[in-house]
Amino acid sequence: NRQFRLAARPIGLPKPGDWEFTTQAASTPGDGEVLVKVLYLSLDPAMRGWMNEGKSYIPPVGIGEVMRAGGIGEVIASNDPAFAVGDIVNGTPGVQEYAVVSGKTLTRVDPKLAPLPAYLGVLGMPGMTAYFGLLDVGKPGQGETVVVSGAAGAVGGLVGQIAKLKGCRVVGIAGGADKCKYAVDELGFDACVDYKSEDVKKALRGHCPKGIDIYFDNVGGDILDICLTQLARHARVLICGAISQYNNTTAVKGPSNYMSLLVNRARMEGFVVFDYAPRYGEAVRDLAQWLAQGKVTAREDIVSGIETFPDTLLKLFKGENFGKLVLKVA
Ligand code: NDP
Repeated sequence: NRQFRLAARPIGLPKPGDWEFTTQAASTPGDGEVLVKVLYLSLDPAMRGWMNEGKSYIPPVGIGEVMRAGGIGEVIASNDPAFAVGDIVNGTPGVQEYAVVSGKTLTRVDPKLAPLPAYLGVLGMPGMTAYFGLLDVGKPGQGETVVVSGAAGAVGGLVGQIAKLKGCRVVGIAGGADKCKYAVDELGFDACVDYKSEDVKKALRGHCPKGIDIYFDNVGGDILDICLTQLARHARVLICGAISQYNNTTAVKGPSNYMSLLVNRARMEGFVVFDYAPRYGEAVRDLAQWLAQGKVTAREDIVSGIETFPDTLLKLFKGENFGKLVLKVA
């Protein structure tokens, strides 16, 4: 059983020395546990946060522990009557080839309904994040203007498509002409701003003449600060993530334009997808239906080989992933 363990708390971007690549015999499942052969792992920006010491919405990964990661696997031994050998399950197996996990942490997935990697993207955590963040926290109204950063990413691409289904005008922000073209041509966004080559403030002013009603923030930093200057009255700013700040070696860059919240009677609100776990079924039902009807589309960026994990994870922070980043383990 090959595994990646956290060897040190990274400073800045994770380095090869922050990991230890170990090999161990797979253990046997105890009462209520199952042994899972890991097929696909979800690589998420949040993993960078889990490597840090300190208080968060979830405890950090301990030094020497197998790195936490969500994933899809096949049950190969079961001591939980709810799961049989051969079941395909979604859970948090960690970055390893075989995992012993409590059956309580697993949900069964239907491989006939969608390709397995989709259960880590549109039908998985990013899908849940886009769905509940936009609909439950943002509450988009018909005709409102929604701006989303990380627009070609796993969460952002879905946010924009769901907002279109709700009758909104949607403007994305993404890095590079290819990603912007994808957001407009394939995801149906009304416009997309390439923050690497355009003046974001000027472009947003042009694309959002009535101001921004909902800004779904995946990146934080300067882009958040610029969006704050373009808010419409009663705007909602959703703090989903701040990937531009995750590898900072200095303090997080906070918004200096927050007085716009006062002027525009606006609000800014953070949310964590895990709070919606009891309601995931609602989102999966809607998203699966929209997928089947061709009303939403999603792509995965699949890289093979557990040994590539340290480099593959970095694609997220370099903007090299195109769609939901997935590591194929077996
Ligand atoms: P993505 O698929 O969007 O991949 C990350 C993308 O972030 C990159 O491709 C890159 O796109 C962009 N990026 C990286 N560095 C920067 C930077 N310095 N400035 C601007 N953009 C940057 O990832 P996810 O969809 O999985 O996650 C998106 C966000 O949602 C993250 O912030 C994540 O932490 C957050 N999240 C929050 C959850 C919650 O419960 N609150 C749950 C799940 C995710 P580009 O090439 O366009 O720059």
